[in-house]
Amino acid sequence: MGSLGSTLLIVIGAVIALALVAAIVYGLARRRAARGTGGEQRPLDDAVKSLGGQAPVEAPEAAAAEEAGGAAALEVPEAPGSRLRRLRERLAGSKSALGKALLAVLSRDQLTQDDWDEFEETLLLADVGAAASDEILEKVRAAMRVEGASADRVATLRRELLAAVDTAAPRTVQDQGEDGLPGVILVVGVNGSGKTTTIGRLARLEVAEGNSVVLGAADTFRAAAAEQLTTWGERVGVEVVRGPEGADPASVAFDAVAAGIDRAATTVIIDTAGRLHNKTNLMAELEKIKRVASKRAPITETLLVLDATTGQNGLTQARVFTEAVDVTGIVLTKLDGTAKGGIVIAVQKELGVPVKLVGLGEGPDDLAPFDPEAFVDGLLA
Ligand code: GDP
Repeated sequence: MGSLGSTLLIVIGAVIALALVAAIVYGLARRRAARGTGGEQRPLDDAVKSLGGQAPVEAPEAAAAEEAGGAAALEVPEAPGSRLRRLRERLAGSKSALGKALLAVLSRDQLTQDDWDEFEETLLLADVGAAASDEILEKVRAAMRVEGASADRVATLRRELLAAVDTAAPRTVQDQGEDGLPGVILVVGVNGSGKTTTIGRLARLEVAEGNSVVLGAADTFRAAAAEQLTTWGERVGVEVVRGPEGADPASVAFDAVAAGIDRAATTVIIDTAGRLHNKTNLMAELEKIKRVASKRAPITETLLVLDATTGQNGLTQARVFTEAVDVTGIVLTKLDGTAKGGIVIAVQKELGVPVKLVGLGEGPDDLAPFDPEAFVDGLLA
């Protein structure tokens, strides 16, 4: 009986154990079914975590969706290639009046002194400037004298206009630094010339070229300028360093360069004040900005922004800046707003600095590198 009783106990124990195992297996199967396929990952995740590693992201789709949502808020600036094609057409469309007028004179059979006077006057009216107009006239006249009736007048004019615009001048904006430092672009110019717009557009151009940018709002006297720059920056995800209104512009420039170095940015673009009432103050301020900012990284480019519609007046103002600071490139804005394309030639001749960028409209991507051949072909189209 004793052995029968113990056998019964063993059987009952075995049944209970079996029931327990069945219950556990059933429970696990339900949990697994509820988790779906991702559930199979969990032991691996736990193992990775316990080894001190990073577990794989649980829901990559959600992260991707979040990222896509964030990027959707940013604008994608127009690519350099399509921008150049579009703006080249605009240049050709707006500037042909000068070329047409010059070719109309040159196409006459026997060119008299009156014709040559008209030729020169046409150049002057297009803001080419006295010195350059005289030079172009003399060269075209000499070429036609040598070549006689067989002269290809269009080719002669094209050649001399290209020489006047200067195809050999350096046009590349120095936006890259050396030794791991960012390139630093200082932007100067009188208020109203389109300086803020140019900086916003240049930031977009840099972004379109794959560069990373930090902007410095060192025109601390105009709160609106800093506001505008911030808006431009936000549109393309570019950080803007600004100080309180009336802050020392040099310290804002210094902070902007420091931020550029910290973020390993390719390029830092610094806005500066454009008040002209006191040349000595302007000079002192720009020199200080330059000196203080270059404690962190050298200034690689100083761009002067000039409104193409202001003609000789604009040139006189521009000269104040070229005397105050070592300008390395000109940005000619509002070239779409004038039929007087000759200003490009006058600006370079009178300031001795190449035009590097041109503004050709009111759109955010209407800024393009200056291309002398496209410009002259636009004149003669
Ligand atoms: P800032 O005072 O020098 O900073 O000048 P803003 O950048 O505020 O520009 C003054 C005005 O000129 C604005 O209305 C701009 O839209 C306009 N502007 C700037 N560049 C161009 C350009 O290339 N073409 C045209 N048509 N307008 C421009």
